[in-house]
Amino acid sequence: MNCKDPFPGIKGLIFDEPLIFNRSESGRNGCSVPDDDLVDFTYSIPDTFLLRDDIPGMPEVCELDMVRHYTRLSQWNYSVDLGMYPLGSCTMKYNPKVNEEIASLDGFAQLHPHTPIHLSQGALQVMYDLARYLTEISGLSAVTLQPSAGAQGELAGMLIIKSFHVNNGDSQRVNVLIPDSAHGTNPASCVLAGLKAVEIKSGPDGRLDPEAIVPYLNESLAGIMMTNPNTLGIFETHADKVADMIHGAGGLVYMDGANLNALMGIVKPADLGVDVQHINLHKTFSTPHGGGGPGSGPVAVSEKLKPFLPIPIIEFDGERYMYQWDRPLSIGRLHGFMGNFAVMLRAYAYIRALGPDGIRSVSEAAILNANYIKEKLRPYYNLPYNDICKHECVLNDEYQAKNSITTMDIAKRLMDYGFHPPTVYFPLIVHGAIMIEPTESESRRNLDQFINAMIRIAQEAEENPDLLKSAPHLPKLTRLDETLAARKLILRWTPDA
Ligand SMILES: *Cc1c(COP(=O)(O)O)cnc(C)c1O
Repeated sequence: MNCKDPFPGIKGLIFDEPLIFNRSESGRNGCSVPDDDLVDFTYSIPDTFLLRDDIPGMPEVCELDMVRHYTRLSQWNYSVDLGMYPLGSCTMKYNPKVNEEIASLDGFAQLHPHTPIHLSQGALQVMYDLARYLTEISGLSAVTLQPSAGAQGELAGMLIIKSFHVNNGDSQRVNVLIPDSAHGTNPASCVLAGLKAVEIKSGPDGRLDPEAIVPYLNESLAGIMMTNPNTLGIFETHADKVADMIHGAGGLVYMDGANLNALMGIVKPADLGVDVQHINLHKTFSTPHGGGGPGSGPVAVSEKLKPFLPIPIIEFDGERYMYQWDRPLSIGRLHGFMGNFAVMLRAYAYIRALGPDGIRSVSEAAILNANYIKEKLRPYYNLPYNDICKHECVLNDEYQAKNSITTMDIAKRLMDYGFHPPTVYFPLIVHGAIMIEPTESESRRNLDQFINAMIRIAQEAEENPDLLKSAPHLPKLTRLDETLAARKLILRWTPDA
């Protein structure tokens, strides 16, 4: 390839030209045919509500230029529809298109959030049933669908734990034990809820050592926040013992279940002693995510924590679905309406399409895929915790360090091979971590292509390290100043005018 473009088949285009900003010509336009003949009623906004008459400096282009503009932008981007996206912990699985169609059915997509209850029974039923499926999967008693991200679910869970203790007259219970392998949102949510994060060191096998929590089993203990499998992809084999110890000391067990891809249909978190957990629908139950949204982080709780769930909850009397507001112990409201409904629809469709056996086989395939990658790559990359993994595996750059090649170089070079890089430098307890999660959606053939690219890169690190140091070579943009890119986001185009 002699052009800076990773996508074969479109070589020869003038890559920067199709952008509409420099194609504008006064008087050019395109048009769309209105959806229906109610256009006059639905789309005429009274003049008094208009913020301005005109937006100066907008490009004037015809339909063809517009189509090429967006097509081009989509080609400069990478997505799970284009190739594998092995981001550990973030779980980017393929999203069946039928789920998108269901989420965009008019009856759901056009439903106004203020539609009266008797006209939105279908939507309420979807939420009620989805909550039931999640109680079945978690083994817990009740679910709120309100939180619109995993982190908001964590906050809800922490507020529930806090309210439980305060309601018992135990407001001194503020310490939440959090293993050092935890996702960064865990301590943040804990502190936001007015509790205290206490870091617990993982044992030499990457697991939580029950001995490590003994000093904290006292009157100040609010609970523990565990991720299982933890962020090394390793199952916390002492989870039930730890839960017994926490319960014995009057604490509660929170499970970060952002990613349920290894447990679904195999283990119910409640059977491991979990009292409350969040579940990221946008990771485990399809829904494309990334770039900040959309998400949904339902929270499941045990019977004794039910009174503290956010209001309203949805109830069914055998005939009608309705909101239940009268809940004096509730932590309150977390969302303007009921949460991110379109994400719930996709999760509902995903669960209904798979059924109980399908849900279990998702977990089995995710675990098999991760172990396959781990075993194939271990001759080439260091495996800091040598164990059977669950849905993800963690390698690092120790073997490549002698050639001054880092995890970042490996990740950048993968882009030249057409793959989105895995999660890097997380979990923090592994130096130079490369965290790979293939998910259930990738075939053996796709996994082999990824493995081969990783092996080629390990060889290049020996033979031609400079190739990696200067990678990526093929994408439109090569090495970015990541600090600048994160701090000075340019989120929209503004006309010069
Ligand atoms: C993604 C993730 C979270 C946070 O979820 P968001 O929806 O991004 O807020 C928390 N914990 C773990 C382990 C995660 O992977």
